[in-house]
Amino acid sequence: MAEQLPATHIWYGQNWSEGNGYGEVYFISGEIFCVGSPNTPPNEIPAPDDGNGTPGDGDQPAPGEYPNVFDCAGTLNGGAYWNYSCNTCMGGTTGITECPPLFLSKIDATQLKPCMKTILDTIKKLSNGSVAGIIQKFSGNLPGYNWILKDGGLPIGTNGQTSSIYNSSMGTVTTIFDSSKFTMGSDLSVARTILHESVHAYLITFFKTNLPNFIGSYPQMVQEWGIYNNWNDTHHAEFVRSFVNDIGVALEEYGKKNGYNLPSQFYNDLAWGGLTHTIDANGNVIETNWFKTNIPNILDRQRILNNLSAEQYGVNSNGNPQSKKGNNSGC
Ligand SMILES: [Zn+2]
Repeated sequence: MAEQLPATHIWYGQNWSEGNGYGEVYFISGEIFCVGSPNTPPNEIPAPDDGNGTPGDGDQPAPGEYPNVFDCAGTLNGGAYWNYSCNTCMGGTTGITECPPLFLSKIDATQLKPCMKTILDTIKKLSNGSVAGIIQKFSGNLPGYNWILKDGGLPIGTNGQTSSIYNSSMGTVTTIFDSSKFTMGSDLSVARTILHESVHAYLITFFKTNLPNFIGSYPQMVQEWGIYNNWNDTHHAEFVRSFVNDIGVALEEYGKKNGYNLPSQFYNDLAWGGLTHTIDANGNVIETNWFKTNIPNILDRQRILNNLSAEQYGVNSNGNPQSKKGNNSGC
C-alpha cells in the first residue's frame, strides 16, 4: 500500500482546520493526502485560510476541490486516522485498533552472535552525529522504534539485510546479519555494517510509523521511488545525501572508544560500505551513480574499495594482501 506512493509528484504539507475537525493535509500536485481525523487535536496551530485552495501556498483547500483523499495508511477515502498520543496510524485498513505496546527490549539482540553483540554494545553508547542518534532512538522509549537483530545466512556479498516489512502490532523492524562474512574481518567492518543497517531500519520505521513527517523530512526519496522502484537503491541514494558522513562520524567515535588512532578519512571510507555498487538491469554489478558523483576521483574510489575489502577480508579489491586496521571481529 504505502509503497505505491505517487513518487513523481511534489508534496506540500500544512495543518488546517475546518469546523471542529482538524488534520494535516499534504498536497500531491492537485490531490490531497490527508491524515488525522475530525476532532483530533492539531499538534500545531492551523495555517491561515483564504479558501482559494491553491496547493502549497499555505491555504486550506476549497471544499470539494480535491476529490481524492487518502488516509494515513495511503488508502483512498479510507477510515484510518492519526493517533497523536502514540504517533501511530490506526483504524481503517491498518488492522491496528490501539496504540502499539511499548516493546520492552527496544534493541533485541538475543538472536545475534556474541561477537556482534559485543560490538553492538559499544555502538549503543555512541553519541556523535545523526546515526548515533538513530541507535539511541531504537535504544530509547520511542513508540514504534524497536529493532530486532538476528544472525543468519545471507547471499554472497550481503553482510546484512533489513526487511522492509514492518511489524505494526509489535512495532518492530528486523535485520539479519551474516556473522560468517566477518570471520576474516575486523570489528570496524562489523561496526560499519551495523551502523549501515540501522539507517535502513530507521528509514523503514519512520516511513511506517509517521508517513507525513517522513515525507516532509525526505521529499526526494518519495520522488526517487518512481525512478528506482526498489527500497534498496531509494534508501542508498538518501544515505549518500543524509547519512554517509554521520556513519563515518559514528564509526570514528566507535574506533576511539576502542583505542584506535586512525585518520577520519579511513572511517569515512568505511562508511561507504554497501553504497558503492548496485545491480543493473542485466544483473551486472556496477558502481553506483552516487559513488561516482560524490567520489569523482577514481583513485579515491579505489582506496575506499581497498579499505572496505581489506577490513573485511584481509585483501584489497584485487585480492592482494592488505592488512586490516581494526582488531579481529572474533566472529
Ligand atoms: Zn544498504
